Amino acid sequence: MVEKLRFRDATLAKRVVEKIHKLASKQRTVKICHVCGTHEWTITHYGLRSLLPANVEVIAGPGCPVCIVPASEIDEAIQLALKGIVVTCFGDVLRVPGSKMSLLDAKAEGADVRVVYGVGDAVKMAEKEPDKQFVFFAIGFETTAPSTAVEVVKKPPENMSFLVSHRLIPPAMKLLVEMKDLSLNGFIAPGHVSTIIGLKPYEVFPRLYNMPTVVAGFEPLDILFGVYMILRQLKEGKPRLENEYVRAVLPEGNVKAQKLMRKVFEVENGKWRGLGTIPNSAFKLRSSYETYDSRLKYGVKIEHGVDVRPGCKCHLVIIGKIKPTECPLFMKACTPQNPVGPCMVSMEGTCRIWARTTRRAES
Ligand code: SF4
Repeated sequence: MVEKLRFRDATLAKRVVEKIHKLASKQRTVKICHVCGTHEWTITHYGLRSLLPANVEVIAGPGCPVCIVPASEIDEAIQLALKGIVVTCFGDVLRVPGSKMSLLDAKAEGADVRVVYGVGDAVKMAEKEPDKQFVFFAIGFETTAPSTAVEVVKKPPENMSFLVSHRLIPPAMKLLVEMKDLSLNGFIAPGHVSTIIGLKPYEVFPRLYNMPTVVAGFEPLDILFGVYMILRQLKEGKPRLENEYVRAVLPEGNVKAQKLMRKVFEVENGKWRGLGTIPNSAFKLRSSYETYDSRLKYGVKIEHGVDVRPGCKCHLVIIGKIKPTECPLFMKACTPQNPVGPCMVSMEGTCRIWARTTRRAES
């Protein structure tokens, strides 16, 4: 609790903001990218952007695990559900648009789609109802992949399988840094993911791309410290990897979870919604666990889907190229009640986060 209060200490925040302004006054325009929905929530909820100097911009990258699932993989889950298989998923996956419909639409058509709080709940359902086939739609970054791996190694019943759509964050960061028109100057790396993968996967960014990279936590001060540390590196002209979130992130990460993920998954190229295929950015089940692979078990593999609906700018919001308010549909045709794109569905989606603040500001 004391720790939490310290990270919301207004006097300390004021001092850090002053230091940020001092450092920024000696620099050109600085664009910092984070890749985490929770970071975006903290930044937006606490109005941190309004505290930063005009020449320092913090943009949101592809940090929402639900938003980046390609429509083709949502379509696969829908196809399974419409075949009479029970599809289980997290609640915020339900309304994510596929090419023609969402899992919620499929449910309305009579498909058995169930919301679970964790993969373990899905396995328990499969155990209780052996006469039905169950699929867990496994979405998420390195943070949630270990919980899928835990259930797979336990060898669940034969009527259980996994539609794996896990994605890896460092390859997406590589894509961003190589997009010359984004002109990034620094990364705030995600705290949750880093508790699992540790620091090593980020070493490439300062070493190969001269990109200051700071792993940060989720309190407002964590993020302000992160911005300060990046500006300090830029001023010194010495890009490096730093860990602001030392109270949670070990340099080596969670070794046990990494071992488990390596045992269960192999890395392959993965599609990201609106971004195309990113090399080595997805997990698939290893051949030793292929009996649990829903795609192989039911012969479902959809190569192409409709990622971007007419007028939707999610593919640009996801990489921070535009702000949600620059999408012509924002809070008009696209609202949290009637989302057009995935960024308005999940609580971690940038548009959904901005919508909440916009509504509050208007009320
Ligand atoms: S406002 Fe809606 S349609 Fe526009 S980018 Fe955001 S989610 Fe996509």
